[in-house]
Amino acid sequence: MRKPSKAKRPFGDATLANHVGEKRTGVGVPVGVPIARTSNFTFESTETMKLLAEGKTSAYIYTRNGNPTLDVAEKKIAALERAEAAVVAASGSAAISGALLSVLRAGDEVIATRQIYGGSYRLLRDFLPKFAVTVRFVEADLAGIERLVTPRTKVLYVETPTNPALRLVDLRKAAAFAKEWGLVSMVDNTFASPVLQKPLELGFDLVLHSGSKYLSGHSDVIAGAAAGGAELIRHVKHTIVELGGTMDPEAAFLLIRGMKTLEVRVERQCETAMKVASFLERHPKVARVHYPGLPSHPDHALAKRQMGRFGAMMAFEFKGSPKAGLAAARRFCDRVQLFLLAASLGGTESLVVLPIYTSHVNMSPEELRGAGVQPSTVRVSVGLEDPEDLIADLRQALA
Ligand SMILES: *Cc1c(COP(=O)(O)O)cnc(C)c1O
Repeated sequence: MRKPSKAKRPFGDATLANHVGEKRTGVGVPVGVPIARTSNFTFESTETMKLLAEGKTSAYIYTRNGNPTLDVAEKKIAALERAEAAVVAASGSAAISGALLSVLRAGDEVIATRQIYGGSYRLLRDFLPKFAVTVRFVEADLAGIERLVTPRTKVLYVETPTNPALRLVDLRKAAAFAKEWGLVSMVDNTFASPVLQKPLELGFDLVLHSGSKYLSGHSDVIAGAAAGGAELIRHVKHTIVELGGTMDPEAAFLLIRGMKTLEVRVERQCETAMKVASFLERHPKVARVHYPGLPSHPDHALAKRQMGRFGAMMAFEFKGSPKAGLAAARRFCDRVQLFLLAASLGGTESLVVLPIYTSHVNMSPEELRGAGVQPSTVRVSVGLEDPEDLIADLRQALA
């Protein structure tokens, strides 16, 4: 019930077409995307109401079910991911839960990589078992995955690169395994963004995003999306709508605006990140830098094949005992001036954060080891500032 009837499009045909990559026609068409700041839409007549009730026509009715500004965002994301269709959601978490709940039912099993976003990990570890879904975790290299699969396994869920150790999952290998066993394959593509990898082209069924990060790119909105085949997306959209996770039209506007500059932002951020990573790797106080672009990274060869460029996320550790390392990491984070001490990632401002106090708080020593997190691990999101200024800030904070 999403497609508007031609006569009743709130902004007229040309306006919407203008924003989804179709031929630009018309006079006086807004260049910016109009925000359909409304909860509901008028019916033409009781006859339209009747036809809608009988499923014989479709139109915008109520924004939780459909809204033209959201449609523009969805078409742009589908184009970026080379997907048949996409759906946006109120947050990345709403897109991820909507995707999982749309295909899973009691008794089903999930295989998921262990190093995933904290919220996704808790959803899989604590939430799905309440609905009699069994979840088994595998390491990012997928070692021993064939021993975890059973006739009841329904979903393979992965995230690459991982947070904060920046390990990679081989997407071709994961997709081939899912095909062999008839699993629905899902990948959280937030860290790479569709600029660096397009998992659907490598055989994945569904791509998930926190649009709060690179897609919107300005740290000013919470947003989510899923992209994939039309039939699967129809189910995911239905689940998101029924559970109430619809995106707000204002958020859709910010997401659309951000995506207009996605490629140039990510390209510059990758370039700067390479300079920052090389500087950190040579610094005498730094024990190790985790950045897929460095030849020292264990997944460097896979990153070259799979991502083209290496992203703008990295992590590093300080030398010394766990206690001394943590003290050094805290001193560093308290001293940076251009880098901001803040959670999240993917925006125009460069950020640093300590995973043990944020994304990986309340994890057991084993879980921390599994995630590659040490007390002195600092995660870095590289923004759009001048690379020389960023390196000067790192140099003074490390001194
Ligand atoms: C932030 C993030 C999420 C969650 O997205 P929200 O928009 O905060 O709900 C999921 N996955 C990854 C990799 C993230 O970084």
